[in-house]
Amino acid sequence: MITIKSEREIELMRIAGSIVYKTHQYLKPYIKEGITTQELNDLAEEFILSQNATPSFKGYGGFPGTICTSINNQVVHGIPGKRKLKNGDIVKLDIGACYKGFHGDSAWTYAVGEISEEKKYLMEHTEKALYEGIKQVKPGNRIGDIGEAVEKYAEEHHLGVVKELVGHGVGTSVHEDPEVPNYGKKGTGPLLKEGMVIAIEPMLNLGTADVYILDDDWTIETDDGSPSAHYEHTVAVTKDGYKILTGE
Ligand code: MG
Ligand code: MG
Repeated sequence: MITIKSEREIELMRIAGSIVYKTHQYLKPYIKEGITTQELNDLAEEFILSQNATPSFKGYGGFPGTICTSINNQVVHGIPGKRKLKNGDIVKLDIGACYKGFHGDSAWTYAVGEISEEKKYLMEHTEKALYEGIKQVKPGNRIGDIGEAVEKYAEEHHLGVVKELVGHGVGTSVHEDPEVPNYGKKGTGPLLKEGMVIAIEPMLNLGTADVYILDDDWTIETDDGSPSAHYEHTVAVTKDGYKILTGE
């Protein structure tokens, strides 16, 4: 069921979203060679709790971390642990926070020290693909309009679109209807209406689109070992367009 949020609910979601945004900003200076993903996780947890919010992902479906930390060829759902960031890595931090019962969800990709030109290219164009998707958000458009825009942009830039994982509605649950794929066809799928809130989250690979799941039952990696990037915002459908809830 796709839920329509009231103005008051959207306001709570804006606060949840801004806590997620602030958590990303808080972590940024720590993203350096030598820090472990567990340390980043613990900093995030401390910060989210300090904002009178709770981490959305901790315990979700049994996920052990507060945030997801995925390095290089890991696409999403990396479990924080002892692995240290190295110069030249890219790390994706996926962060969710719940404030007064409503969630915000946003992932971002960060460079550790000096990264290769090809990783820079991947990051730049995955972020741009996210905004190509967001631009399609307005009442009267459909979910397929978002997917087509993301997919078209990715293909033009020769990046593989991960299809096994999709964006989603956000509300009192961090994952709600509808699914928001990063592929599709304009004019198809659920209609966007004022008061809907969705997370748009392209996951693009420098190589092929294929991915597999590790034995830990969480971490998704690219089949060909190529790096992957992930950018996500939670976005509300407004009267005449959209508002990004997990931005500044
Ligand atoms: Mg997320
Ligand atoms: Mg999400």
